[in-house]
Amino acid sequence: MLQIQGISKQYKTGDFVQRALDNVSLNLRDSEFVAILGPSGSGKTTLLNIIGGLDHYDSGDLVINGISTKQYKSRDWDSYRNHTIGFVFQSYNLIPHQTILSNVELALTISGVSHSERRERARKALEQVGLGEHVNKKPNQLSGGQMQRVAIARALVNDPDIVLADEPTGALDSDTSVQIMDLLKEVAKDRLVVMVTHNPELAYQYATRIVELKDGVIRSDSDPFEPAQNETATAPVHKTMGRASMSFGTSLALSFNNLRTKKGRTFLTAFAGSIGIIGIALIMSVSAGVNTYIDNIQRETMTAYPISIDEQTFDLTSMMTSGQQSADNQGKKHKSDAIYPDDAAIKGTASMTSSITENNLSAFKKYLDNKDSDINRYIGSAGIQYSYDTRFSVFSHDPDGTLVNADGVTVGKTGTKSMADQMADGSLMSADSSTFTSTRVSMLTGKTDQNAAPSSFHEIMPGADGKKNVGKVISDNYEVVEGSWPKNKNEVVLVLDENNSLSLTTVYELGLKSASEYHDMMNQLNSGDDVKTDTKKIDYSDVIDRTLKLLPACDQYVKGDNGHWTYVGDDVDQINALIDSDKAIDLKIVGVVKPVEDADATPLSSGVGYTRALTNELIDRAESSEIVTEQRSDKDHNVLNGMTFSPSDDATKAQDARDYVASLGVSSKAQMAQNMMAAAGASGGDSQQAAAMAQMGEQQLADQFDAYIATADEATLVAIYNQYVSTGSYNDNLADFGVVSRDAPSSINIYVDSFEDKNSINDAIDEYNKTAKEKDKITYTDYVGLMMNSVTTIINVITYVLIAFVAVSLVVSSIMIGIITYISVLERTKEIGILRAMGASKRNVSNVFNAETGIIGLLAGLIGVGATVLLNFPINSVLHHFMGTTEVSAVLPVGNAIALVILSVVLTLIGGLIPSRGASKQDPATALRTE
Ligand code: ADP
Ligand code: MG
Repeated sequence: MLQIQGISKQYKTGDFVQRALDNVSLNLRDSEFVAILGPSGSGKTTLLNIIGGLDHYDSGDLVINGISTKQYKSRDWDSYRNHTIGFVFQSYNLIPHQTILSNVELALTISGVSHSERRERARKALEQVGLGEHVNKKPNQLSGGQMQRVAIARALVNDPDIVLADEPTGALDSDTSVQIMDLLKEVAKDRLVVMVTHNPELAYQYATRIVELKDGVIRSDSDPFEPAQNETATAPVHKTMGRASMSFGTSLALSFNNLRTKKGRTFLTAFAGSIGIIGIALIMSVSAGVNTYIDNIQRETMTAYPISIDEQTFDLTSMMTSGQQSADNQGKKHKSDAIYPDDAAIKGTASMTSSITENNLSAFKKYLDNKDSDINRYIGSAGIQYSYDTRFSVFSHDPDGTLVNADGVTVGKTGTKSMADQMADGSLMSADSSTFTSTRVSMLTGKTDQNAAPSSFHEIMPGADGKKNVGKVISDNYEVVEGSWPKNKNEVVLVLDENNSLSLTTVYELGLKSASEYHDMMNQLNSGDDVKTDTKKIDYSDVIDRTLKLLPACDQYVKGDNGHWTYVGDDVDQINALIDSDKAIDLKIVGVVKPVEDADATPLSSGVGYTRALTNELIDRAESSEIVTEQRSDKDHNVLNGMTFSPSDDATKAQDARDYVASLGVSSKAQMAQNMMAAAGASGGDSQQAAAMAQMGEQQLADQFDAYIATADEATLVAIYNQYVSTGSYNDNLADFGVVSRDAPSSINIYVDSFEDKNSINDAIDEYNKTAKEKDKITYTDYVGLMMNSVTTIINVITYVLIAFVAVSLVVSSIMIGIITYISVLERTKEIGILRAMGASKRNVSNVFNAETGIIGLLAGLIGVGATVLLNFPINSVLHHFMGTTEVSAVLPVGNAIALVILSVVLTLIGGLIPSRGASKQDPATALRTE
């Protein structure tokens, strides 16, 4: 039983107030067919909407089965509409893009009835109205009468207590109207049907009760109903109706179906939304391509230029900055009134001298080895490489059978290598001035630097963990043209340059061509003749499997009868004996390699490449050698000559000078005599005597010199001692014998992958220097930093520009998506009204729209990403064409693609949120009035 008690409803439009209903009271029976008649604008629809809970009354009360609706919350109204009311409209209000079955199912869908039951009941309802065969048609495939019957089926499917029909026959011809009226009459048998009509004939023919309305007031009622007194005695109480429930899954399915039925439109909307995404994705692709390119360049640069810290360093950076400071001082402008001395050059020289420093690499290595050190976070894939000053000589026999030293072509001539020789093999040119001094010293003292590793021999950079013989930097940048990479300490490779060539000197040094030919050539060079060089090509097969003999420095000394060790590296017979003994390490050339075309870095110079395993072997051998053990057991005396290391008293010095001269061979003595004479001559000595000596033979000179020493006084001997005799030092001896501590590398190369990492490493070293003791501080030159500062700035600018582009397109695309969603919501206002009339809650409505915008967003994202992937092909060919390189390729990273799809969904949801909330808030009655 439905009681309308003094209900009033006004509509305000601007200042104008329309009284749609004016204190209307009407009681309706549970089962009757009420027709409401009245002219247009008399408030019929308003009354019906209020009864159906679509519109709310201003004052009065609607009492349903004795329960007041005054305290109804919106969910109670939703539930009421869903379960108690069935609506039939003049304009049918079917959802056009759904089949009539789905249309009928809608009320059940909203109340959360299961799929199969929904189908079943909807089918039954459609059969009931005689449309059993049309279930899969769309509304626009039906006639008006059929559509109205669908609407009736929809109103009945939930088996409501009340069916409200607003001019159901208003748009139908009279025959069809009769059919609809018959149907409604049938429906009204066991429920309340309230029908608004302005067709009095039909009303009088079918309805059981006629109510006439005019200007919002009831004018007549053919069959008024007064409920029994006891029924109204109790005050209406509020009872929650429970909610009409629709899960989010249902909303999603509903939206999905909805979108599926409007494929074209959905695709267009998604496409419009995807344009923004395409914009962002394209910029991201290009920027990713550029970034990859930049990263590659950085990695390549950083592989070619690792941060290199040497034992001895020349601090270019501080020199340059101090030079700058000095320039700053000079920066002030002098008046043109006098002469102003400029001290820049002097200061520059001073800073140059002071900028040569020793680095304590053992302390630094300890820091690097510590896993907790900050620096380890920035190390690149090639890791940290330590180099050690191992000492060894390599010998072989040339085609004539001459013994060849890889550092001096023939053994026995090394000590007196001509200037031209030294120039030719580069040893003279090497910037290391100590080499030059020690070579000079060696000529006089027998102390040598000759057992330093040959300059053509280089260690192959091992893997970052030191386990692999050939590191990635090497294997990436070098190719094997013949044979293979070395697999152990006994194997080496010949390293050529890109052009397959190898220095001719190295060819001779490895005994590949005749040594005498080399010396002839050099002599010709010295005398200024035209030199014909032998540059005939050498077959790989002549090199592969060739064996070189390596002698560690420690094994190039032989203990004499006097108990002193003698260096025999320049003695042909001794060397021949040694290289046949087990002291020699056989090195087999197992491959020929060269840098690949476009190599990023060529850290392996041409010559011979050997393994870290060999380095380790050499370190171990030196450590356990006899000479080293003996030297270690007596730290005060030089095992080479028995002299005391750095004596303090003159007597010992004089005796040592005598011992020293006595120990020299004839030619060395003659040489020394000549040298002393030359020095004396230079300081204004007797030039006649010098001329006389120049005439003498070696033997004569040596004898003269012996006589001179025998009669020399202590002061002279001490002077000779100070000038010419070097007792060496304990540490120098160990170094000469090839002792190398693994804790004390000669240089450290830190490989990084990017400029940022390099800067972080610079910072970490600064940090290390702050905490380190004064003598442990590390100085090094950051060449890459000096070179690349401006490049980094440019790269940063490019990156920021790209980021700015992405940000702008992001904003643009989100606005675009928002607008598109908004329009799509506006367009579906009517549908919202229908959903609400079916009992969908506000939340259901916004869910349906959110689900729909979400799906569109997903689609837009996918289209955007897909289109970008496709567009990248033409873009790349354009890029490659104009940049002349294939290294910059627009590629959308997978992570970014996923992020963009998510972004698209989120943006569309947000863009749709405002309109969908607006949609859900819309007054259902107003929404339904929208056409
Ligand atoms: P009927 O269905 O009898 O033709 P209605 O109930 O639709 O009449 O309307 C009654 C009166 O209320 C009309 O004068 C109409 O203009 C007015 N009216 C109805 N809905 C609104 C609204 N949303 N805003 C303003 N006036 C309205
Ligand atoms: Mg109306």
